[in-house]
Amino acid sequence: MYDFLLSPEEVKVRDEVREFVRSVDPELIKRMDREEVVFPKEFLRAAGEAGLLGLRFPSRYGGRGLSWVGEAAVMEEVGVLGFTLSCLYGLVSIVGEPINVFGTKEQKERYLEPMVRGELYGAEAITEPSSGSDVFGSTMTRAERRNGYFIINGQKRFVVGGVGADFFVVYAVTNPKARDPRERLSAFLVERTEGMKVATIYGTMGTRGGGTARIVFRDVKVPEENLLGPLHGGYKVFNRMMVPERLVSAAGAIGTAMAALEIAVNYSTVRRAFGRPIREFQGVNFKIADMASRIDSARGIVYMAARAADTILEDNPRVVRRLVSEAKLVATEAAWSVVSDAMQILGGIGYTTVFPIERLLRDVRLGMIWTGTNEVMRMIIQHETYRELLSPEYRRKRRNVELDALGAHLEEEKYPEQP
Ligand SMILES: Cc1cc2nc3c(=O)[nH]c(=O)nc-3n(C[C@H](O)[C@H](O)[C@H](O)COP(=O)(O)OP(=O)(O)OC[C@H]3O[C@@H](n4cnc5c(N)ncnc54)[C@H](O)[C@@H]3O)c2cc1C
Repeated sequence: MYDFLLSPEEVKVRDEVREFVRSVDPELIKRMDREEVVFPKEFLRAAGEAGLLGLRFPSRYGGRGLSWVGEAAVMEEVGVLGFTLSCLYGLVSIVGEPINVFGTKEQKERYLEPMVRGELYGAEAITEPSSGSDVFGSTMTRAERRNGYFIINGQKRFVVGGVGADFFVVYAVTNPKARDPRERLSAFLVERTEGMKVATIYGTMGTRGGGTARIVFRDVKVPEENLLGPLHGGYKVFNRMMVPERLVSAAGAIGTAMAALEIAVNYSTVRRAFGRPIREFQGVNFKIADMASRIDSARGIVYMAARAADTILEDNPRVVRRLVSEAKLVATEAAWSVVSDAMQILGGIGYTTVFPIERLLRDVRLGMIWTGTNEVMRMIIQHETYRELLSPEYRRKRRNVELDALGAHLEEEKYPEQP
């Protein structure tokens, strides 16, 4: 239906992923939800063997040079599996992005290539007990340079893959005296070693089976060559990493919302009340209309952000940053309301485990919290909006619509002096 948004190559790859998603065993999803699985390596291995991981990366690293738009389409497909599998699938793109952009040849060979093949598992360790939204101001994990190594001490929490991943992109303080918090941190590729201990495996409302953990780093020795990007250049690495982080979570949320819409459309066609299918009641079918419209408006901004990443990411990263933040905000809020409406349409049975709506609802709630909370998205969006709309360059090109008011000449009424 949305193929017109994609090139023939993108459609082809999307269809391959769709087929792969159809083949995923429902038992895996159930075992993950029961927390009998803490890290589904078999899923990533199978996707890697099918050549379906890290599709956006160049073919020399095992990808297919897919566009960001293509990746959004692919993530929509994977999103129907729920948040954990789509997160783990998307992590290849998220963790792979800074390695692809800032990594050395050796880093690409050692981490990116096997990760894309589904043989090595990467995760991101950004959040700490003391720092979530305020990554640059409050991160306490330190990396000290000593004899050709960085020695890392600290802790990270809520790390998906904390239990099963082989390596982590870790942000740590290397420049504690920096006046500007943006110059405090560096990014590292840290392999799981003795000095890293899984201190807590969190019980979560949803998004289960990903081994979300708190990890403690005690004198973890990381070779200097595992510095990712410039020393004290964590801000740059982070901002680049947040492009796939937010696009992947936005597009995945659309897929999850679609799964709920499909169930609600089917159920409301079959289920009868007052002598007719419930879909004939406006109270039900208008909900379906609103759900479809909310999904499509989210899809609109997600594809727009992806197109921006394809075309202007290098020249105008700030615009892309705003758009991916809008995409993440709109798509995750749409997904939450769509899945909730689907539950309403199913009535009592929607609240039970007979249908997967209750699991999807538990999953999508996280969308508004992780990969930067939606308040943080709003913070970025308002900041960029004020900056752009108040810039002399912008104002010079735009019509001054304030002059179109009947009382436009009453200047002293518009902006009176204030204390
Ligand atoms: C299941 C799960 C999986 C996760 N996976 C990962 C992972 O793999 N790797 C990783 O590094 N992290 C991960 N996270 C962490 C997640 O990204 C953080 O929880 C999130 O960024 C918020 O940080 P916090 O929990 O410390 O909340 P805080 O930063 O303490 O925020 C608390 C509240 O204050 C609000 N707030 C903070 N600052 C502002 C502000 N300036 N303006 C307005 N409101 C503000 C927030 O929006 C929020 O509502 C995961 C979290 C969960 C729950």
